[in-house]
Amino acid sequence: MTVYAAPGTPGSKVTFRSRYEHYIGGEWVAPKLGQYFENVTPVTGKAFTEVGRGTAEDIEAALDAAHAAAPAWGRTSPAERALVLNRIADRIEENLEQIAVAETWDNGKPVRETLNADIPLAVDHFRYFAGAIRAQEGRLSQLDDDTTAYHFHEPLGVVGQIIPWNFPILMAVWKLAPALAAGNAVVLKPAEQTPASILVLFEIIGDLLPPGVVNIVNGFGLEAGKPLASNKRIRKIAFTGETTTGRLISQYASENLIPVTLELGGKSPNLFFEDVVAQDDAFYDKAQEGFTLFAFNQGEVCTCPSRALIQESIADRFLGDVVPRTQAIIQGNPLDTDTQVGAQASTDQLEKILSYIDIGKQEGAEVLTGGGRADIGGEFADGFYVQPTIFRGHNRQRIFQEEIFGPVVAVTTFSDYDDALSIANDTLYGLGAGVWSRNGNVAYRAGRDIQAGRVWVNNYHAYPAHAAFGGYKSSGIGRENHLMMLDHYQQTKNLLVSY
Ligand code: NAD
Repeated sequence: MTVYAAPGTPGSKVTFRSRYEHYIGGEWVAPKLGQYFENVTPVTGKAFTEVGRGTAEDIEAALDAAHAAAPAWGRTSPAERALVLNRIADRIEENLEQIAVAETWDNGKPVRETLNADIPLAVDHFRYFAGAIRAQEGRLSQLDDDTTAYHFHEPLGVVGQIIPWNFPILMAVWKLAPALAAGNAVVLKPAEQTPASILVLFEIIGDLLPPGVVNIVNGFGLEAGKPLASNKRIRKIAFTGETTTGRLISQYASENLIPVTLELGGKSPNLFFEDVVAQDDAFYDKAQEGFTLFAFNQGEVCTCPSRALIQESIADRFLGDVVPRTQAIIQGNPLDTDTQVGAQASTDQLEKILSYIDIGKQEGAEVLTGGGRADIGGEFADGFYVQPTIFRGHNRQRIFQEEIFGPVVAVTTFSDYDDALSIANDTLYGLGAGVWSRNGNVAYRAGRDIQAGRVWVNNYHAYPAHAAFGGYKSSGIGRENHLMMLDHYQQTKNLLVSY
């Protein structure tokens, strides 16, 4: 067990500045209107730094810098860009603890996640796209003896990226790595709840990129996000966030006729067929973990398995095992490596989750465990902690249909395969899903029949860089990760050449 010192106390791996400006053209630049907003840590509920409050003027300055940098960066060779991306990956790895602690302090998620998952995944994404861009080839076809058609990949130019607060660094890297590999310059707007860790990251890696290739403007959605997403000087907007915001982003993009990538909300079903309890073995243990661990890591994951569908014949047995297992999850200081559940990212999010817990109770769903704010005590008394909560009810209740984005799982039962699939697909969303069965035919068929972009079969929650990720239905447009992402950040040039 390691307990990392809190930022601002002796021995801490991170020292946040008292004030952060925007990062534009490789420099720290004060907001044009001179305004700042507080950044609060969910760990203690206290403000720890202030951050520039961006407006349209700052977005224009960032776009100026990006446009100045884009032509030269776009002309670098894939090998040169790959070298830069690999250096960034190495630098992040060398500073893993500092970045992980900064992310935990900013977002509230336990350091065991940021150290072992979020930041190592970010490293791997840079390495993956460094390799991918070197392996990418164009196409050539001979039309006749005299004429050849060449197809080249060219960068889009300057792109906008807007990210949420739930994986501040990883969501930024999912977008930055392919965009940079493809030769674009970027203006990025972090979420207003969690800007600081990305700024710490750029203190560490900023010098590895030519000035202006990545520019960061902080601020709120309507003040800084909209002027970026609706700007005529970007050639693409990539967005991760709520479905309602995604609709607005799509409208802005259609005005400017630019492509969008939208990674939006989810209400992922996690299906447990009756054969999972056939033996008390490693498979059954893994299935129980598939119910608990990934749902209750604050639940602030777009693919959180927030609806558990259990076959009627095993519901009592399965719940009899997973409820105590949920109660045994360690919740506490997010900087303690033993902690499994940390704090919710913001006070708004805390209140939203608690209001949904009330809605579940009012709707008559049964609380099997949890059901309120968690009291961690001590210096964490004002932090944003919620008890891991399990409800039992039916799929038309609001807690089954609306994204809560907290450590709340709504459980219902199904009779047979058709019933399971009908409940699983009875949702506006289609982002993630889980299927657990020892029967390969059932597992495969359910994986194919569920309307979601990612289905984990007999596992849950891996996000490898080489597996495409994205939503069906109201969960989004386009994909992230995988080689195909390069196409999303490139355009095709065709030369028809006669000799
Ligand atoms: P949000 O939509 O409120 O905010 C996301 C970002 O958009 C923030 O940076 C915000 O400032 C900005 N924004 C808000 N209004 C804007 C506007 N009008 N124009 C431009 N920018 C605007 O979402 P959130 O609450 O930060 O994030 C949680 C949501 O993100 C959840 O719904 C979750 O499911 C989703 N999410 C999806 C994925 C995925 O890959 N599909 C991944 C992580 C999170």
